[in-house]
Order: sequence, then C-alpha cells, then structure tokens
Amino acid sequence: MAFSRDYLTTYFQDDEMTARILNGKAVADELCNKITEIIAQYKVRPGLAVILVGDDEASKVYVERKKEKSLSLGMKGRILHMPEGSPQQILEAIQMYNTAPDIHGILVQLPLPKGIHTSQMIEKINPIKDVDGIHPFNLGKLMIGEPIYTPCTPQGCIRLLKHYNINPEGKRALIIGRSRIVGLPISFLLTHLNATVTLAHSHSSNLPQLLSEADIIVSAVGKPKLIGTNHLKPNVAILDVGINRINQQANNGQSVVGDVDFTPVSKVASAISPVPGGIGPMTVACLMYNTLKASFIQEGKTMPEQFFNF
Ligand code: NAD
Repeated sequence: MAFSRDYLTTYFQDDEMTARILNGKAVADELCNKITEIIAQYKVRPGLAVILVGDDEASKVYVERKKEKSLSLGMKGRILHMPEGSPQQILEAIQMYNTAPDIHGILVQLPLPKGIHTSQMIEKINPIKDVDGIHPFNLGKLMIGEPIYTPCTPQGCIRLLKHYNINPEGKRALIIGRSRIVGLPISFLLTHLNATVTLAHSHSSNLPQLLSEADIIVSAVGKPKLIGTNHLKPNVAILDVGINRINQQANNGQSVVGDVDFTPVSKVASAISPVPGGIGPMTVACLMYNTLKASFIQEGKTMPEQFFNF
C-alpha cells in the first residue's frame, strides 16, 4: 500500500467535494517528528521486536514498514520471521523478547496462520512490553479508562479526530467491526470520550438504520464499497480503517481502497479519512509512540506528561 501524493492531490482538486480530508499521513509525520525529538532529548533507545509467522504477503509489507519506521526514528527495530509451525516456537520467541533488556515493545503480527491460538500467544507477552495494547491486562485497563498502551489503530483514529477538532462528545458514533485489535477498543475509547456508541458487526441486521443515525462512523470491516452514500446522515465524519486490495485497472490505478466508496461519500460527509494516507500511517506512528512510552516505563525515566497523554 504505497502512499501516493498524486492520489491525495486529486482529492483536493475535486470541486464538488465537500468533506474535509483527514490527512493521516501529515498528522502521523508530525507525531513521528515529536518522537524523534524526545528520543534525542531524553537519550533513550526504544527497541521494538516484531514477530511474523508464515508468509502472508500483506503482513510482510506491514512488518517491514514498522521496522523501517522505527529505524528511521532512531529506535532499534527487529523482525523475527518464523515459518508456520509449532506454537511452541512462537512462545519461545516471545519469552526471549520478554527478557531482552534492549527490547521494550513486542508485537506479534496478526492474523496468525490458521491453527495457532491467537489469545494464547498474546497472553504470553509481558503486558509492559505489549505495545499493541491487546493483552487482556491492557485491554482491561483501556476498558476502565486507564490505558497504559492504547492499541495503535484505535489510538490513530482518536488522534486524527482530535487533530481536526472533531469532538465525539454527545455524538452518535457507529463502529462497524468488533475485532480485538480495532473495533472493540475503539468502542471503549469513544465511550470514554462521551459519544453514544453503537458497535455493529456481521450479525447486525439493521445497518442502514444505524448508518442513518450516526454522526461519526468508523468502518473496520475489510469490504470495498461497504459504505456508499445511501442512508448516510449529511455531514457525518467518517474514519475508514479498511484496507482492501483490488484490481488496479478497475479502479483508476488504485490498488488499495478502504471500506468507503470515497468519491461519492466525500460529497455527503463533512470529514473523511482516505485510503491510503489516512489511518494506515497513523497506526504505524502510534506503534512508535507506544514503543517510546514502553522504553520510558521500563527504563524508569520520568515521562514528559504533556506528550504521554495517550
Ligand atoms: P476482522 O476480520 O478481525 O474483523 C472484521 C469485523 O467486521 C468483524 O467484527 C465482523 O463481524 C465485521 N463484519 C464483517 N462483515 C460485516 C458486514 N457485512 N457488516 C458489518 N460488519 C461486518 O478484521 P480487523 O483486523 O478488525 O480489520 C478490519 C479491516 O481493517 C481490514 O480491512 C484490515 O485490513 C483493516 N485494518 C487496517 C489497519 C490500518 O492500519 N489501517 C489496521 C488493522 C486493520
């Protein structure tokens, strides 16, 4: 999923477009610049280890991007690529990083190959190194409004809303998709920001009705054109988390799209995050933020509070 400047520029040239583009790439760059500054100022060397199991092509791209970004910010970034095989080997790798003093953050790239019990793996990560924020301890802390590591994609969504002054307080927020890593934690975050939250999923029978009532929509499903203009409330704000690979020729040269039919929807919505260039870069930046935070916690350093507010 390469971010293309030309692609974003075309948004801005469309006269009919009314929606504000929530430029995740720019906001993520700003966060990463701040992270670089803090690393230099506090002389920390955060270390991130990413465990990749199997040969899923998209996952390979994502982990490489995470490693490259961590290196570019002055962190240690390591990928441990393991063949599909015994869960025991994954557990041993997690255990090795749990005790490695130079590794502050451990991320197991999901989804894991079929047959491997995701929860069993995640639960073996020391919660203080769980920079993905999806260990039951960290999800529990998030649920009660006391997060240590806010999961990266949900954190990216909230940061983007905050950056563009979209306040969820008192609004009806519809989240579509209830995964452990995206939809469910976003529902906790928006609840704590005083939105009235509806969490829809594949068994929800009344999606059109729910769409028509929503002031904010977060779509995290993985289905192109799941959301068109039908049933949308005018001026709705939309965060499109979906990443879908499609035939390039059938879509003006774009090979990656979100869940939202971007062009028509951008004429109805008040704000919308594009794919690519929206939530994707925010997710990587928030992983860097969590890894930096993990290094402060584990090295016993005092955190600059105005920065560590997520
Ligand atoms: P998942 O497969 O774990 O969850 C998908 C969710 O969608 C499920 O809760 C399911 O109930 C729901 N769903 C399926 N069909 C539905 C329908 N017709 N109507 C309503 N709900 C439906 O996926 P995930 O890991 O949460 O990822 C979701 C999407 O977000 C994928 O496209 C993924 O690639 C993308 N993603 C993007 C980022 C990013 O950084 N931008 C990060 C993580 C995931």
